[in-house]
Amino acid sequence: MSIDLMRRCRQCGTRFRLFPQPQFIEPFQEPETVWLSPRAGMVGPGPSDDRMYVIDPIDKPYPYGIARGAYGSPFFYYPPWNGPIHPPPLPDKDGHFDRLSVGTRAFEAAHAYGVARFVLDIWEDYFGRPIRWHFLRDYDWLEIVLLRALGNATAGYGFMELGSDVVDGDLQLFSLNFDIIAHEMGHLILYSEVGLPNLNALAGEFFGFHECGADLVALITVLHFDSVVERLLEATRGNLYTFNELNRFAELSPNKEIRLAGNSTKMSRFAAGWTDEHDLSEPLTGALFDILVDVFHDKLVQRGVISPEVDALMDQLERRRQLADVIQAFFDRAYAENQEAFRLALLEARDHMGIALAETWRRLSPDYLNYHDVGDAMLEIDREMTGGRYLDDIISNFRWRGIGMVAVGPRIVTPGEASHAFSSRTLTPTGRTCLPRLSYRERWDVARRCHMVPP
Ligand SMILES: [Zn+2]
Repeated sequence: MSIDLMRRCRQCGTRFRLFPQPQFIEPFQEPETVWLSPRAGMVGPGPSDDRMYVIDPIDKPYPYGIARGAYGSPFFYYPPWNGPIHPPPLPDKDGHFDRLSVGTRAFEAAHAYGVARFVLDIWEDYFGRPIRWHFLRDYDWLEIVLLRALGNATAGYGFMELGSDVVDGDLQLFSLNFDIIAHEMGHLILYSEVGLPNLNALAGEFFGFHECGADLVALITVLHFDSVVERLLEATRGNLYTFNELNRFAELSPNKEIRLAGNSTKMSRFAAGWTDEHDLSEPLTGALFDILVDVFHDKLVQRGVISPEVDALMDQLERRRQLADVIQAFFDRAYAENQEAFRLALLEARDHMGIALAETWRRLSPDYLNYHDVGDAMLEIDREMTGGRYLDDIISNFRWRGIGMVAVGPRIVTPGEASHAFSSRTLTPTGRTCLPRLSYRERWDVARRCHMVPP
């Protein structure tokens, strides 16, 4: 977040409290206060503002997307929810939401809104303008639904739905999970800025690109918490390649997979084909994470914390695990002497990547999109942003992954439940005409249970 945005929010914005990490990672943490951009007094019950609102519906029968009537016939089920809801949280007399008690439904709703709005504020700042929802033709607002029965989290045309899961015997509400909501916001930002592909021009890499972008939105956004930056640097002593909370991706997917941004997956793994877009995203996410680390090292060089020779040496050593101890010993020493310089370098690298990614996404077309296009766009932007300072880093990281050299094979199996690529996410109301009309009995049932005029 730029200093300017931070100052504006602190002068007249609205206060919320958020958990930067899910509670199963850090059990006894307290939520942290953040300032959001809407002016105090402009966030209404729900919470709600001019871009989004949260609802906690009572007996919403299914998630949005393609649902099935009483006799199993498919129909399009879309927002808004017009049925009954639990009482929405209200602002205090000064317009803030930071006094709600943790453990209540009201806090949960405020947390879901707070994370979504926090992400939107930061990324609109990186884009330098408002992000227009891709569903504006039909809806003015994003509807964020707390739907505990859903074992997943999804975002699609006009909605985001947040379910829950049981982890080691404990119920985990996705409405309280920063990474999951930020990841879903990432998908919505990409739908809005890159667009939805024409179905005849759909490349498999589009899906991997989407998961990668959603993960990077979550990763860069969480680095706006001072506490996360501090813990990250303390734990790694500034050596971001070591296992830590920045590259341990906590998007709690239904298969409990915890992904790594700092991975070593190459394109060759998918030459024969691919099955899951989360796996397919790894080479691109890994390349972009490595570029972030290179930019961070360059910022440390600029601050005189490390010499250019040491930086060059680290580039050669970092992929050789047997030398990990040598690198760590170097960081332990350098960090002990220059903690503040490490912090500032990380914030600069974060914002550099945020702006570079926003610029990249705005130039890409969704049709036939592949990872090589992402690399080309990043090179073009780097020439404009820095005069080409990071060209070598971008080229070598994309090459090391085999991007542009190895083509991805076909999708091997049909997408399953966990897939973020198909299903309700990428459907739009124009597709509803493909489905058969419901019988009278089913129409009556849908109207009663979904509180909507059936299609
Ligand atoms: Zn996703």
